[in-house]
Amino acid sequence: MTKNIAVIRGDGIGPEIVEQALRVLDRVASIYGHTFCYTDVDMGGCAIDRYGDPLPEEMLQKCVASDSVLLGAVGGEKWNDVPGHMRPEKGLLRLRAGMGVYSNNRPAKIWPQLAAASPLKQSIVDQGIDFIIVRELIGGIYFGEHQTNQTDDGLTAVDVLRYNEKEIERIGRIGFETARKRRKALCSVEKSNVLDSSRLWKKVMHRLAEEYPDVTLSDMLVDNCAMQIVKNPAQFDVIVTENMFGDILSDEASMITGSIGMIPSSSLGASSCGLYEPIHGSAPDIAGKDAANPIGTILSAAMMLRYSFDMEKEADAIERAVSDYLDAGYRTADIMGDNMTLVGCKQCGDLILERIR
Ligand code: NAD
Repeated sequence: MTKNIAVIRGDGIGPEIVEQALRVLDRVASIYGHTFCYTDVDMGGCAIDRYGDPLPEEMLQKCVASDSVLLGAVGGEKWNDVPGHMRPEKGLLRLRAGMGVYSNNRPAKIWPQLAAASPLKQSIVDQGIDFIIVRELIGGIYFGEHQTNQTDDGLTAVDVLRYNEKEIERIGRIGFETARKRRKALCSVEKSNVLDSSRLWKKVMHRLAEEYPDVTLSDMLVDNCAMQIVKNPAQFDVIVTENMFGDILSDEASMITGSIGMIPSSSLGASSCGLYEPIHGSAPDIAGKDAANPIGTILSAAMMLRYSFDMEKEADAIERAVSDYLDAGYRTADIMGDNMTLVGCKQCGDLILERIR
């Protein structure tokens, strides 16, 4: 199979971690007889420096025309003071909107080899942590009107939170379909005791549930969910929620697995062209030091093979290689433990790709 992949290396550690993921993809291609063609795309701080725009239209079109997009990370101190509409993160928001990827899927799964890295008590970790947060990505308060005006009470800021039934239904379907492929339990998270948008959310989820009788739907208020994720994470299979709640809960969920550098994500819309990226940022503090953990990006590439290219066994091969690498006791600095062997970003890539069969 031939696939065209748009590659956004981005800023900070982005180029280092993406490089390792591409080497792993090339290894998979040579073993399984595929051809992956890469198109470089500038986005984020590097695009601001080069074009004065975090995502020039021409770059967005390269992504839209691809079979899928692999992204490292964008942003950094250097661009902190540029005007809001020019910030590197704006490029990311425009990319998601331009690609129409309305669903962000983040697995929160503990690797048994890294169980000690979780900040949770061992007795909680032992019950298992293996759930996915399906987050609505291109609606809600992040995309509503933002305004700051002078009023009699001084400056007053307003951010608008708006959802329509169509937007809720399409993300709800992803939640139900994802649950169907797993343990068939979907938890819809909202704030229906306060917000109208949440009451509509809940109504649409229950209407959809009639079409998915094999999936058990439950409701949870977002504040309770934040507590339950640390108290009893084993209860969750799939969580579906709106943009801002999902942003916060998915960071919390990644923290309990103990290792921000290990977690991949996928963002999908109506087509099979998805956006795949690790959940962490550009880690400027370790950029250029060959110290970054590339596994979140490598596992994002595995998700791309599974969800966008239907290459299940190829994705399994990457995940198995990562597990074998951890079993062999190799660790980058972020997940270093007693009696482990410290490796850098590139060596981590070497050790994983030699384990791909
Ligand atoms: P960050 O995720 O970049 O870093 C947080 C901490 O985790 C740092 O100590 C960093 O060294 C460490 N870390 C992150 N990824 C790692 C990896 N792969 N291996 C080893 N250690 C890793 O978050 P931050 O410091 O808040 O943000 C830095 C920049 O990244 C900011 O400009 C922010 O806006 C941007 N950012 C970008 C994205 C994205 O591109 N999707 C996401 C979040 C933040």
